[in-house]
Amino acid sequence: MTRAYNFCAGPASLPTDVLEQASREMLDYQGRGLSVMEMSHRSNEYAEIAHQAEQDLRELLAISDDYAVLFLQGGASLQFSMVALNLMGENGGAAYVNTGQWSAKAIAEAGRYGKVQVVASNSAQRGLTIPLQDTWEPLADNTAYLHYTPNETIGGVEFDFIPEVDVPLVADFSSSILSEPLDVNRFGVIYAGAQKNIGPAGLVIAIVRKDLLGKAQAQTPTLLDYSVHAKHGSMYHTPPTYSWYLAGLVFQWLKKQGGLSAMADINQRKAKKLYDYIDNSGFYSNPIEPRFRSRMNVPFILADSQLDEAFLAGADEARLLNLKGHRSVGGMRASIYNAVPEAGIDALIDYMKDFAQKNG
Ligand SMILES: *Cc1c(COP(=O)(O)O)cnc(C)c1O
Repeated sequence: MTRAYNFCAGPASLPTDVLEQASREMLDYQGRGLSVMEMSHRSNEYAEIAHQAEQDLRELLAISDDYAVLFLQGGASLQFSMVALNLMGENGGAAYVNTGQWSAKAIAEAGRYGKVQVVASNSAQRGLTIPLQDTWEPLADNTAYLHYTPNETIGGVEFDFIPEVDVPLVADFSSSILSEPLDVNRFGVIYAGAQKNIGPAGLVIAIVRKDLLGKAQAQTPTLLDYSVHAKHGSMYHTPPTYSWYLAGLVFQWLKKQGGLSAMADINQRKAKKLYDYIDNSGFYSNPIEPRFRSRMNVPFILADSQLDEAFLAGADEARLLNLKGHRSVGGMRASIYNAVPEAGIDALIDYMKDFAQKNG
């Protein structure tokens, strides 16, 4: 068996070690004679799996007891609604930073539940930069929170700073969580869909400061109320048990790699190598302001878009998968999350060099 290098934006690459362990445990979890998929979420075995995963995540991100860690369904997109329903208050409002397609979706959804002030946007710069905080509008009175998207998965722009605000900070970390250490104490809510840098699809993790619980709008469906999930340890109803288990294996794998500082170094090296090659190639290009280039999602275009099909076909043959850019952007995108090894970057660059030589 040889595994291809998978550059998919999500559902994305998972560590081979993790998949091997899951495969060993698939039919018979630790001698219990059943798969994790077949376990009651109320069983002792599963409670242990769930608890261990939460502990390991808390350890990796140094999450204090002031925060609830919730394992939920509905993806990051449902968090767009949950954040607003839980934090805005009855006649409240919230501030949003618009840096691309994911923030735009979060903004549209929040607008259904209260007043939204877009304090800054990069749309006049076609999404190629991050607006520095000293250019933002001041927050309106009664702003319940400020929401931003630290890494825009489609556009390939990433904040290199954490905003400083007097209201709870809410962040959609779907595509960059666990890629480097993070000071969780700066945030009110952090959420991330699992299928980029955590585990399989079907799971979204929300890290919620406990003093923000219990303030949901009256119309909030029970299942969308953070406090319900916090009170029941994410087991008010059946959680996505298998995705939670697999996320737990990824957390253990991350600890074995040396934790998030080690991952940050590796990710920095991987991204630098790829951007350096693109910039010096004379054939490929990435238009993002260098300071704000994403370390996780690297969009690039070829000198001649008529070569796109051939590039993708050749990549597929070289077992470099899912390099096609987002349908709204075109071109290429290499998503290089934690589970994509450095050797994958080397293989990609080798292929890109070869292709440029033959077609340049
Ligand atoms: C993928 C992604 C989403 C949407 O995630 P779903 O789980 O499909 O709802 C939201 N925000 C960001 C930043 C993403 O990368």
